Amino acid sequence: MKIIRIDCIPFNLPLKNPVRFAGGRLAVSEHVLVQVHTEDGLVGTAEAPSRPFFYGESQASMIEAVRKWFAPALMGRSALDIEHAWAAFREVEHNDTIKGALDIALHDIVGQALGQPCHRLLGGWSDSARVTYICGYGEPQAMAEEALAVRERWGITSFKLKVGIDAAQDVRMLHTLRAALPEELLYVDGNSGLNGRDALRVLGAASEIGLAWAEEPVHRDDRPGRAMVQRHTRVPIMGDESCRNPEETARELADGFVQLVGIKTARTGFRVSRDILAQCAALRVRNVIASQGDSTVGVMAALHFTVAHANTASQPAELAFHLNTQADLLQDGCLPTIVAGRMQAPTAPGLGLQLDPDKLARYRVDH
Ligand SMILES: [Mg+2]
Repeated sequence: MKIIRIDCIPFNLPLKNPVRFAGGRLAVSEHVLVQVHTEDGLVGTAEAPSRPFFYGESQASMIEAVRKWFAPALMGRSALDIEHAWAAFREVEHNDTIKGALDIALHDIVGQALGQPCHRLLGGWSDSARVTYICGYGEPQAMAEEALAVRERWGITSFKLKVGIDAAQDVRMLHTLRAALPEELLYVDGNSGLNGRDALRVLGAASEIGLAWAEEPVHRDDRPGRAMVQRHTRVPIMGDESCRNPEETARELADGFVQLVGIKTARTGFRVSRDILAQCAALRVRNVIASQGDSTVGVMAALHFTVAHANTASQPAELAFHLNTQADLLQDGCLPTIVAGRMQAPTAPGLGLQLDPDKLARYRVDH
């Protein structure tokens, strides 16, 4: 399983509807496909989504990070040496998503070599995952119509609603959505956009409508704002941008500012996601598999991780972002379809990704 080559291919996938959130807008997914080749002909595959507004990475910077630092560290090593890979990754600050993608590609190789799907390798807890759909920030009625259409078509009954730009509109939106979806699981994501006082306004409405939890209403560096929220609301708070790695997660857990922690396999791969999982399990803190705007390649990785562990499989997981991309890179039918709001665990060895060469040729942007 000696690593002999790493390919990084930038590709762009236009979204059907641009997604608005506090702090940005996403119209095109600009990702890098990572392929790690071994001397015995195995190829591990993953995607790294560039999200400069959260992590400061671009397609070009991720490719350069592999060329300059990570490929030299991995070349000639066994794909099994994942601890050594992370030792090399830790010598370079940041670059979270490209590190995560390399880690997932290594796990893909190990699964293929053992003839086992990655979720069996990681823990094999469940055979399916409940799926959450993310509604981008918009007019309350439009968000309700989008959610109803998704429930109708895929049977999805868990929705994340983007908030955090205008607290008054957020309050209206919550009442509109609850009227349209009286039984569904609803939670909000503020993307760190609110101050403590506005967050409490939104959380007041959240409490009235029975919101399941609220993700990152207040920025991680606004400690007084986070403390105010902690003191005055009973709505559980989920960490996302404040829990990008185990160190940050430890700080938020110690301060008692989060009662759930989002895990993004695109951000911490499988290896470090498991570290965060263990931190949270020790404190009975729930984990939610969150999306980094994954295409089908990334959703497949997140699906494996979700069903592998009790703590992630027990919550609905954000495995539906690909429904909003106009295209993807996989052969049709490779990613399990969402049926009655759930996805079945894949059965092929490794991640079970089957790339479509024609799609890759069409959407890669390096020619
Ligand atoms: Mg978030």
